Amino acid sequence: MPTPKELGLKRGTKEYSQFMSKQNYERHKEARRAKGKEYHFRTRGRFVAEKRAALPPLLRSNGVKPRKGTINACKFCGQDFYAGPCHKDRIFCSKEHSIQWQKDHSFRFQCVICDKTVFTQPAQMTARNRKTCSKKCMGELLAKRGEENRLKNPPTEGVLRRRIRYSAKMDKWRKAVFERDNYTCQCCGARNGLGRAITLNADHIKPFAYHPELRFDLDNGRTLCVECHRKTETWGQQRKSASVPISP
Ligand SMILES: [Zn+2]
Ligand SMILES: [Zn+2]
Ligand SMILES: [Zn+2]
Repeated sequence: MPTPKELGLKRGTKEYSQFMSKQNYERHKEARRAKGKEYHFRTRGRFVAEKRAALPPLLRSNGVKPRKGTINACKFCGQDFYAGPCHKDRIFCSKEHSIQWQKDHSFRFQCVICDKTVFTQPAQMTARNRKTCSKKCMGELLAKRGEENRLKNPPTEGVLRRRIRYSAKMDKWRKAVFERDNYTCQCCGARNGLGRAITLNADHIKPFAYHPELRFDLDNGRTLCVECHRKTETWGQQRKSASVPISP
């Protein structure tokens, strides 16, 4: 390092004092480095490295003072993390760990149709008896149950017969019989109109129950009013003496 004399600086001048202070500063710095200690530049020559080192790493700031937040342990991974002064109550280190923890501790069940995991409230199972993940799967489950029930309780003979009696095909047959007979009772000749309202039935001449092959045969049908229909031998479950012949 050059001396002030070599540079031609005179005592008492501004340049001289500036030079000297700079020289002292450099000497001081070098002495500190020689001891193996870090020199802190930002704090104008104060040696704060030791003080900083004494702080826990998460609370280290640029200066001597610690950061204002706290160190919390993550509830999911157990590792320490820094929580800022406005978030001192934080218990998770990250959003991902928060979601992961909640997933691990939430109530869940498997969809019985597609096997997907459903995260939900226990009340969904206890109160609603929920079994599926979505409306689509619920529809499939209901269809499956319906099919099982139908196999378990097949329709009885009577139900099957009633289905035929009230089918659209039978409606068509009934109408065809009425039209052929011109809406007139084939026994007593009663008709609607002129202040009279009577109920017409389409009767199977050879009974519906014993002649399945003739159920939709137009020739096996005849139009009868209710009164005459009741008098036939085969009406309902009754077995009366025939006041109306079975074949006209
Ligand atoms: Zn974590
Ligand atoms: Zn599903
Ligand atoms: Zn009649």
